[in-house]
Amino acid sequence: MAVTDLQRAHLTDGFGRRIDYLRISVTDRCDLRCRYCMAERMTFLPRNEILTLEEIGLIADRFIARGVSKIRLSGGEPLVRRDFTDLARRIGRHLDDGSLKELTLTTNGTHLAAHAENLFGAGIRRINVSLDTLDPAVFSHITRGGDISQVMTGLEAAKAAGLTVKINMVALKGLNQDIILPMLHWCDAQGHDLTLIETMPLGETGEDRTDHYLPMDEALKPVRARHLLTPMSARTGGPARYFAVDGLNVRLGTITPLTHNFCADCNRMRMTCEGRIFMCLGHEDHVDLKTAFRTGGADALDPLIDRALGAKPLRHEFAIGPDERPAATHRHMSVTGG
Ligand code: SAM
Ligand code: SF4
Repeated sequence: MAVTDLQRAHLTDGFGRRIDYLRISVTDRCDLRCRYCMAERMTFLPRNEILTLEEIGLIADRFIARGVSKIRLSGGEPLVRRDFTDLARRIGRHLDDGSLKELTLTTNGTHLAAHAENLFGAGIRRINVSLDTLDPAVFSHITRGGDISQVMTGLEAAKAAGLTVKINMVALKGLNQDIILPMLHWCDAQGHDLTLIETMPLGETGEDRTDHYLPMDEALKPVRARHLLTPMSARTGGPARYFAVDGLNVRLGTITPLTHNFCADCNRMRMTCEGRIFMCLGHEDHVDLKTAFRTGGADALDPLIDRALGAKPLRHEFAIGPDERPAATHRHMSVTGG
């Protein structure tokens, strides 16, 4: 039985939170190896375990029919997946009738130059580009070998295509702490917003996270020394809280999983590229959609979506340093999608 408009209900979890946002990791693979995200040597999923683009599209259809109105495509690096644009275009069709209000993307930007126009054509208007530094050598160090010029070319192409860009920067003690203020000024000059993120203990990276963990209040010190930050009520549907920056035309976002918990108004579910629904970044509990979908089709998804909603935990329990709980999760951020 197909879901009709009459049956369309708001998705609500066991704590009364409305869930209208789905993040889809379209691949766990990536062309970079950011130190806070991945280990240098990674074992990726075998291709036959990964949902086809057609399957991802059909599952996205069902979530939209059930009330998801915002989808972010992520990874791994989404733009390394072949035919990514076809998937974006397919999901983007739902923007035409308003059943989907926004389709967005998080990317490292290395392949953006080749994709920017097609992304706009698919209906994407805002993208997040991860960039932790403006220094080519530091970029190469953090990403273990990446070439920042590819990202810069990608950002130019995104601007030319009409995409609004927000830069995501993970605040890292000893690696980019001194670049936070210059990055903010650069974003202002480029017309990008900037969001700073506290590093989360997700998956083994071969590095000690305590070395680089930088609490947001520390990260903001050089910014506050130069600019008055005024909290804004505006939200973009994700976990970031925004500040207006006195003297600059840039919105500064902060994502503070460690120092200021924001789970009370969480509106998200996440699907991995192998069709597992995670209700929370910080918990291992998940619901597998792939087997049911491959045997029973889209109708088999509804009870599983309901089960996932019912199992969504109240909050994550991340901690870094002396209080760190065993690795928080074994799953890398690249599996669940950032
Ligand atoms: N590859 C794309 C990118 O880098 O934008 C998309 C996937 S990446 C996992 C999504 C976001 O998660 C990026 O902004 C990245 O900086 C962030 N991220 C990855 N690992 C993280 C961690 N352990 N703690 C905090 N943020 C993390
Ligand atoms: Fe790749 Fe993004 Fe993780 Fe960096 S943060 S390794 S670009 S998935």
